[in-house]
Amino acid sequence: MKLIFSGNDYKYELEAAAKIFFPAQKFEFAFDAFDLPERDFLFFRKKQFKNYCLLYVYADVNGVRCRKAARDFCMPADKQCEEELARLMYLALKQLTGRTSEWGILTGVRPVKRVNALIKEGRSEKEIAGILKERYYVSDEKIAAAFDTAYTQERCLEKHRTMKKDNGFELYISIPFCPSRCSYCSFISQSAAGNAVKKLIPPYVEQLCEEIKYTSMIVSKIGLVPETIYFGGGTPTTLSAAQLERIMKTIAESFDISDVSEYTIEAGRPDTVTEEKLCCIKENGCTRVSINPQTLSDEVLKRIGREHTAEDFFSAFEAARKVKFDTINTDIIAGLPGDTPQSFENTINGITALRPENITVHTLSIKRSSRINATEEKDGALVQPARQMVKCAADKLYSSGYMPYYLYRQKNMVDNLENIGWSLKDRESLYNICIMEEIKTIIALGAAASTKLVDIKNGRLERIFNYKYPADYIANFQLMLNRKKEIEDFYAEKK
Ligand code: SF4
Repeated sequence: MKLIFSGNDYKYELEAAAKIFFPAQKFEFAFDAFDLPERDFLFFRKKQFKNYCLLYVYADVNGVRCRKAARDFCMPADKQCEEELARLMYLALKQLTGRTSEWGILTGVRPVKRVNALIKEGRSEKEIAGILKERYYVSDEKIAAAFDTAYTQERCLEKHRTMKKDNGFELYISIPFCPSRCSYCSFISQSAAGNAVKKLIPPYVEQLCEEIKYTSMIVSKIGLVPETIYFGGGTPTTLSAAQLERIMKTIAESFDISDVSEYTIEAGRPDTVTEEKLCCIKENGCTRVSINPQTLSDEVLKRIGREHTAEDFFSAFEAARKVKFDTINTDIIAGLPGDTPQSFENTINGITALRPENITVHTLSIKRSSRINATEEKDGALVQPARQMVKCAADKLYSSGYMPYYLYRQKNMVDNLENIGWSLKDRESLYNICIMEEIKTIIALGAAASTKLVDIKNGRLERIFNYKYPADYIANFQLMLNRKKEIEDFYAEKK
């Protein structure tokens, strides 16, 4: 598929919009060219006349063509033109392919942020729904999910505001190791199955503890205190109980953790979960664990390279219940290769029956860095089942007393769908809300961690990146410590 731009260079926005219909395709681009290929192109034209602006899309899919045009009698801003061309493209491709997208032409990562901004502007629910539907072609179901998420978040944050001081931050600890690599994985996480990676773990733990100590001195000088702690990755429980304890004790000795209301450790892969590890992390302050089956179909688990069975998940879940964590989260994925609407329904029914406090329903995202074969997606074979699965999950979860509390989208998600965190009332994860809505500073430590410094009042957001891979993280340690100075600079400016 070739994308041709004439009188405009809205490549970024329009490529993202075209991906809604052609997620796995590599596009070619041409600028200010008029000789169209014989077939398979999208031609985006903007022509400014004296008194009006003409916007025009000419689309060809498999040799069948369609034209859509709009005329604006003023001088629209670039943003408006981009959006109008995306709308025209959507209508043309809908006509040519017969397909639609539940999120219409919305391509951003955080649709709820947009809803929150409109609520803050004082717009009514009806007005906002009208904008989402008419301007962006968002479906009624997704509009309802965005509103439910926004309202649940507001309830959680309101409660949080009355309880906490203004100097809180979220502490993220990255453990980028897993027992093996899933076929859909696009994270930098490394399989600890081989000796080379296994050998990296002890020095990694040591340096992470050093980074924790060094960072704690900086943040306590500024007067910041952690209010949530989150161990993610990777699969943190790939580490031994002793290694996890070493890191957790270092955190407790370095930071003032008396204000920490939520302490999550991802124990994503059931094949890494042991009673010893669960007891150890609970004794050291962990209140929330995430145990993720992704699917309860053994066949699908095998196909996506997870080296555990549904039975392993049930045992890990039961062990976590026995240890009495406040909250258990379970992740599942819609649109996995080999899954069907029926086996997905079995998964969601099986998970809901366990009553985990949180259930996160992801939609498969196919990234270039994953091993998964994109052919099925390319053919559209996964599209309808994923949409059906996501709907099935929403129906089941609403009727079982769960509400959406955070929602985000990634690039290359099957059928342009979304990930939604669902929760029983008052069991929502504050960390997840803060990270999605970018309302709190996140200090992130470890390989591939990215610190996000947030100053809501002045609309400032800055990032500090750590080295991605554990070996580089270990080799360039001093350089990363030096970057921590940026935290001080950011807060000095904030004052
Ligand atoms: S458990 Fe998660 S981070 Fe680890 S390999 Fe699988 S998808 Fe990647």
